[in-house]
Amino acid sequence: MSQVTNLGFPRIGRRRELKIALESYWKGAIDADALHATARELRQRHWQLQREAGADVVPVNDFTLYDHVLDTAWLFGAVPSGYLELAKTDPLAAYFATARGYKSAGRDLRALEMTKWFDTNYHYLVPELTRDQAFALCGGKPIAEFLEARALGHEARPVLLGPVSFLLLSKTVDGGDRLALLDKLVPVYADLLGKLADAGAEWVQIDEPFLALDLCDAAQHAYRYAYAALAETRTPKLLLATYFSGLDENLPLATSLPAHGLHVDLVRAPHLLDAVLDHLPDDRVLSLGLVDGRNIWRADLHAASGLIKRARAAVSAHRLQLAPSCSLLHVPIDAGMESALEIHPWLAFACEKIAELRTLADAAEGDTAALAAVAASRELQKARRTSKLVVNPGVRERLKQSSTQLQRRGSDYAARKLRQAQTLALPVYPTTTIGSFPQTAEVRHARAAYRAGKLSESEYQTFLENETAQAVRIQEGLDIDVLVHGEFERNDMVEYFGEQLDGFVFTKQGWVQSYGSRCVKPPIIYGDVSRPRPMTVAWSRYAQSLTKRPMKGMLTGPVTMLQWSFVRDDQSRAETCKQIALALRDEVVDLEAAGIRVIQIDEPALREGLPLRHKDRDAYLAWAVACFRIAAAGARDETQIHSHMCYAEFNDIIDAVAAMDADVISIETSRSRMELLEAFTKFQYPSGIGPGVYDIHSPHVPEQTDMLELLYKARTRLKPDQLWINPDCGLKTRDWPEVKAALSAMVGAAKALRQEA
Ligand code: GLN
Ligand code: ZN
Repeated sequence: MSQVTNLGFPRIGRRRELKIALESYWKGAIDADALHATARELRQRHWQLQREAGADVVPVNDFTLYDHVLDTAWLFGAVPSGYLELAKTDPLAAYFATARGYKSAGRDLRALEMTKWFDTNYHYLVPELTRDQAFALCGGKPIAEFLEARALGHEARPVLLGPVSFLLLSKTVDGGDRLALLDKLVPVYADLLGKLADAGAEWVQIDEPFLALDLCDAAQHAYRYAYAALAETRTPKLLLATYFSGLDENLPLATSLPAHGLHVDLVRAPHLLDAVLDHLPDDRVLSLGLVDGRNIWRADLHAASGLIKRARAAVSAHRLQLAPSCSLLHVPIDAGMESALEIHPWLAFACEKIAELRTLADAAEGDTAALAAVAASRELQKARRTSKLVVNPGVRERLKQSSTQLQRRGSDYAARKLRQAQTLALPVYPTTTIGSFPQTAEVRHARAAYRAGKLSESEYQTFLENETAQAVRIQEGLDIDVLVHGEFERNDMVEYFGEQLDGFVFTKQGWVQSYGSRCVKPPIIYGDVSRPRPMTVAWSRYAQSLTKRPMKGMLTGPVTMLQWSFVRDDQSRAETCKQIALALRDEVVDLEAAGIRVIQIDEPALREGLPLRHKDRDAYLAWAVACFRIAAAGARDETQIHSHMCYAEFNDIIDAVAAMDADVISIETSRSRMELLEAFTKFQYPSGIGPGVYDIHSPHVPEQTDMLELLYKARTRLKPDQLWINPDCGLKTRDWPEVKAALSAMVGAAKALRQEA
């Protein structure tokens, strides 16, 4: 019989218990023992939950207090010396120092850089290595957690991040070659694996997600080298785990590595199965990733059963394991907590996903109840696809009628530019901001009071109007050219729109870890998206009524809404995105009719949606850009369309950014000292562009001279009539005194530049 296994479980807890404990510890409200006690309780509860849901084997060492990549760096002593020094006296403080920075008693340690874990919204800390990096096994977290689980009677499989993926996720700070460190790292892995074998671990799951990505020759060589070397030593059986993409051309490599088993993601790459079955040596275990670890829908168990049957025709049952496609880190824990939702029967969070695997395993053995559940699953999928909740014939009809004409503005950029210059009459080097102003404690308290029913609708309305009016006065006082209303009415840039659009729903406890203690509750797009009524017009109209200067309308773009949600899996992402784009298009037209002359459609997540494999990128960019254009192109030539992007590398997609055909785009760039501008040596960016002139994440108020310096740099690459002046991103996390000082310096820089013109 095939075993039901799992690749990783969410750590944060059903009710974000880990978040609460961590933040209490950081505040000094609880001590290290209390934090560790909560961590232990969560691990044990999660193993229990997985067992109860039907897992035969539970993962261990998937738990972490902050991040599993950071844990791996600490496990191998691969952290810069300043932190290691601190670890001698206070290991927990040193650990959190690498994650969050540390300032005390003459020590000032900054946090390691954080970046996205593949194409997910989870962020890991980037280990910093040097060319002469030494590695040594430090502590025994995987062993301790293995023993902890076994003492409770669980069959436990430790999870380790594999050596090649670990190095590829790291960076060297001195230009050294990461992969050259492999021969020093592998013996330390061997040491750890030997100890896990001594402790009684039969299997270890060794995550090598890069095996499913585009691999250069050096990385392929590294894989061969590392696993040949490990095969020479005594280790538990190794299950090589790949996920997030198919193995494709790396299949011969992956199946030739001397491991004992291979996990493949059949949700992202169902086509992979036959090829894997062809290539896999006879003595290997195959772990089938059957249910989607990246989304919250119940699986089509009938289709999954079909995959199992095919696998069983080639491989005996005991060599097969049934697993989620990847770690369940990326979904919430318990859909049982969302029973109030109408779509509840369609949802499977981590626990329900394991139960689905149990059903599949039992059905494969001919269990009648399980077979009935598999058949019922098919009915459920059908019912969901055709449900009145999902299908909106009007939306479908509109989509069918829509032609590429919808992507085109009335005139090309050159003609629009002239019209906009006439109606807007802006100075050269116009100044603006990205949208939000400080979400002060007052703003947050008012929102909470309103939601709790302690503030009436009209009281809350008046409060927000006052905030908005004050923001307008401040911007006029600062002499900013294109104003914003401040977004005080918004809690989150996706949630605000999702709550007003049909086809979106919000969970109560559907939390997913973003990084450390930070969690997000992504909306669920379950049905055809439509806009029952205008979403932002009243606020924009009100704000515009307070000033003669242009007031920017402020929308979240279709790709960003898609990217930061759980998206329905019964149609392509492109199609869902197009529905959102059409809804936004109506909003653009309504804003314009209400007298708004500048409209910004934010797409900070455009780059995040980029597929992991290069071969898939052009297709994605094509539909993503098309969706933005559909949203924007309802605007008349006179209406200036802005967009905004941040915190990603845009140089290599700059032609797609240009293809969005926005009249003006603001892009975060000050942290990299305008590295973005490199892109413009080769590429003539056609329209208006505002490379951010100061980093809004720093409480440090920037000097006018710093900003001028960046602007001079920008001017070497951009024409004067292209250049806009703005901060890097929205200002909601800052406080008003900082914002006023920074913006006053920014306007000063703009004026200085104009003087020289
Ligand atoms: N308009 C949004 C804001 O200013 C943009 C946020 C973002 O870039 N993520 O808050
Ligand atoms: Zn931004």
